[in-house]
Amino acid sequence: MTQNIDTTISCAEFQDHLPELFANANGVPDDPTLKHHLNTCENCAALVRDLQYIADQARMLLEPAEEDPSDSVWSNIQSKMELERAEVEAATPPLPSQ
Ligand SMILES: [Zn+2]
Repeated sequence: MTQNIDTTISCAEFQDHLPELFANANGVPDDPTLKHHLNTCENCAALVRDLQYIADQARMLLEPAEEDPSDSVWSNIQSKMELERAEVEAATPPLPSQ
């Protein structure tokens, strides 16, 4: 007798498992029933994609960066502005003395 997997779960049932899916595997189900629902239900597939995106963004925010990017970005902008101002001043010809 072939193994009969009940693949007819509802979206609500699928979504009940989302927290554990994201806690363990970033939204990729091991359970064949959940996997089948995800593969056949466009609504839940889109929902999982959204949550995966959010989870990725959150992970990037939470992961400590090698150096503080906001600091180096800001000092880059600052030195660029100073450089440009210096160039503008250097390029401005002195007032003709008459
Ligand atoms: Zn669904």
